[in-house]
Amino acid sequence: MQIGLVTYKPELVEGYDLHVFYSKSADGQVFPAAKGMQNDVTVFCDAKSIREDPSIVAVSNAGPALRKNKRSNLAFDFVCPTHPQYRAKVLDYVKSLSRESILGVTLNLYHFPDQEYCVCPRCVELWKQSGLNWTQWRARTVTEFLREAKELAKGTFAVEIYPDPMLAKERYGLDLEAIGELVDYYHVPLSSRDYFTNYWAVMLARDFAASLKKPVVVELSAEMPTDEKLEALLKTVAYVSKNKIDAVLLLVHDSENARQICKFAVQNRHLRDWLEQYDFKEMTQIIDGWANIY
Ligand SMILES: [Zn+2]
Repeated sequence: MQIGLVTYKPELVEGYDLHVFYSKSADGQVFPAAKGMQNDVTVFCDAKSIREDPSIVAVSNAGPALRKNKRSNLAFDFVCPTHPQYRAKVLDYVKSLSRESILGVTLNLYHFPDQEYCVCPRCVELWKQSGLNWTQWRARTVTEFLREAKELAKGTFAVEIYPDPMLAKERYGLDLEAIGELVDYYHVPLSSRDYFTNYWAVMLARDFAASLKKPVVVELSAEMPTDEKLEALLKTVAYVSKNKIDAVLLLVHDSENARQICKFAVQNRHLRDWLEQYDFKEMTQIIDGWANIY
């Protein structure tokens, strides 16, 4: 199993095999391509574009797909996935990234906000014209967007998967099988403020590894300020590594945060003994590798 980073700063850090950089984020910020890295593009969540033109937001009968609309439990503000100019703008950005010497492109939040979205007049019209049922039409809309993006993207093509293995298609329009035909790997974020309770993360990693037909990479949050949280995180990585996972990506603020994790693990004799005692070979190997550097 490989170990990697997801980061807001385009910095390569020794000791990590994979580097994913957020080149377009959910608040609408857009950055230049990070060379030699996987560039992760937030597609339909774009608070800045919605502020500039509120008419592009996805809508349901319970109102717009905005965080401030508490009828829906949304973590981001969502643009309607069929808005032609917005789609063109994101696809242009993917194209511009792909002119640079990047490793590849990952897309995230490229789907509908939830089952009841989007019922704007354009979506309803497109749905009726399609002759498909609601679930099929939404899934086809998402898959076709990915197909277009893949045509323009250079290198490794991956997508993040909203971590719901049961209702992904009904709720978000994620046809995991059709998406599997397009991507080199699936990137599953299992984000949390801490992993003191970790069974859900280990369970979801196992579910996705067992059910998806392409390699699976799991992301865990690692912006941890305390030793207790870091130890719980590293034990969770160890349990995740017992499944058929290609890599674990750690979400960090910056390279200093990433190096701190390595140093903490290398110096933590108690943790390293624990990993050896319970036979976490992959994790032991990773920390032995870090010990050669840090
Ligand atoms: Zn719409």
